[in-house]
Amino acid sequence: MTPSRKNIAILGAGLLGRLLAVELANAGCRVSVYDKSTPQSPQSAAFVAAAMLAPLAESISTEASVVRMGYYSLKRWPQILKCLEEDVLFQQNGSIIVWHHQDNSSALHFKNQLKKATAFLPPTHLSQNINKDELLQLEPQLSRQFEEGIFLPKEGQLDNRELLDALLHKGTQLGVQYHWQHVVELDQFPGNEFAHVIDCRGLGSKSDDNQLRGVRGEVIRIHAPEVELSRPIRLIHPKYPIYIAPKRNHVYVIGATEIESEDDSPMSVRSALELLSAAYTIHSGFAEARILELSAQCRPSFKNNLPKILHHKDLRFIHVNGLYRHGFLIAPAIVDRLLNLLFENRSPLANDLDIEIEDASYEHIY
Ligand SMILES: Cc1cc2nc3c(=O)[nH]c(=O)nc-3n(C[C@H](O)[C@H](O)[C@H](O)COP(=O)(O)OP(=O)(O)OC[C@H]3O[C@@H](n4cnc5c(N)ncnc54)[C@H](O)[C@@H]3O)c2cc1C
Repeated sequence: MTPSRKNIAILGAGLLGRLLAVELANAGCRVSVYDKSTPQSPQSAAFVAAAMLAPLAESISTEASVVRMGYYSLKRWPQILKCLEEDVLFQQNGSIIVWHHQDNSSALHFKNQLKKATAFLPPTHLSQNINKDELLQLEPQLSRQFEEGIFLPKEGQLDNRELLDALLHKGTQLGVQYHWQHVVELDQFPGNEFAHVIDCRGLGSKSDDNQLRGVRGEVIRIHAPEVELSRPIRLIHPKYPIYIAPKRNHVYVIGATEIESEDDSPMSVRSALELLSAAYTIHSGFAEARILELSAQCRPSFKNNLPKILHHKDLRFIHVNGLYRHGFLIAPAIVDRLLNLLFENRSPLANDLDIEIEDASYEHIY
């Protein structure tokens, strides 16, 4: 069937649901999207995320397949954003890793891991050790106590909330029907009204897939007019590793790594103290910043922390999930691969990305 004749339902309007809705509507499909929340999707992982696009930094803790999906997506994001009406913050100026002198051994360990994990990458993509002068050339306001750092070229970030809004606007323009405050389950779509029902509910699919788990992340959004950092910075620290992602108008998203827990209760005092203290060591101007938001949310993850596309035999029901801490990094790759599955190779390069696609027979669901 040609795309233009297809009626498609998407469950979930987080990152994947919104991006997929626009791409499918662009391909001529009639798309209906259902989300349990409001147009802002405050309960999605996408709304809380820092939205760093960091394949190199992530390479030490993930598979080469995710790194490849990341570089593929870094090329796709500008093409996707160009088609949206609003200007969405997107940068690809690299990111920086720093550490305090007493943590030299942790930094050495990190460098060794990075070297091993990225052996397959072209030289232009590899990390560069930089001295204090080079560090300050890149980020003149960084604390002068850092003697050296690592520069990760070609890494980027985008503004998650600007992106979510812009995708919604574009989808509406293209005729996508959004149904807000609709909690939906798969068994509500039994008939033949839709050629495909695509489940993008993230952790909301847990009741249908017991392999899914949540991995908690915590972030603080602050407004720091005195701080001028232009690219994401990560701090290596044995106890308090953090990242800082600068957004527009001196807003900074400060986050820690991850906690193996599905607890999505508000942030603890301890976490807030640790995050803010670590940020203060990177730039003392954070002391006068105003706290805009403290948030905690869980990332939808499978056991191996890799994404998966699961489909029932005739592709009527499709689950796309497990984007873990890499949703923004890899979403364009996942969406292109899914579109290839539906519409015969629209983006042939996406077929080489080693994304797990499983023809699953979920008789207990359907
Ligand atoms: C703290 C934190 C920091 C992160 N930082 C980064 C980062 O720097 N870089 C990066 O690449 N990724 C990052 N991520 C990961 C990224 O946000 C996720 O991988 C991504 O959002 C997953 O997209 P998704 O569409 O599958 O799920 P979500 O974005 O969670 O969207 C799921 C949607 O489904 C809806 N839903 C759920 N259940 C139902 C139901 N029953 N009926 C209807 N609707 C339902 C929800 O309301 C939601 O809108 C971070 C995540 C967190 C939590």
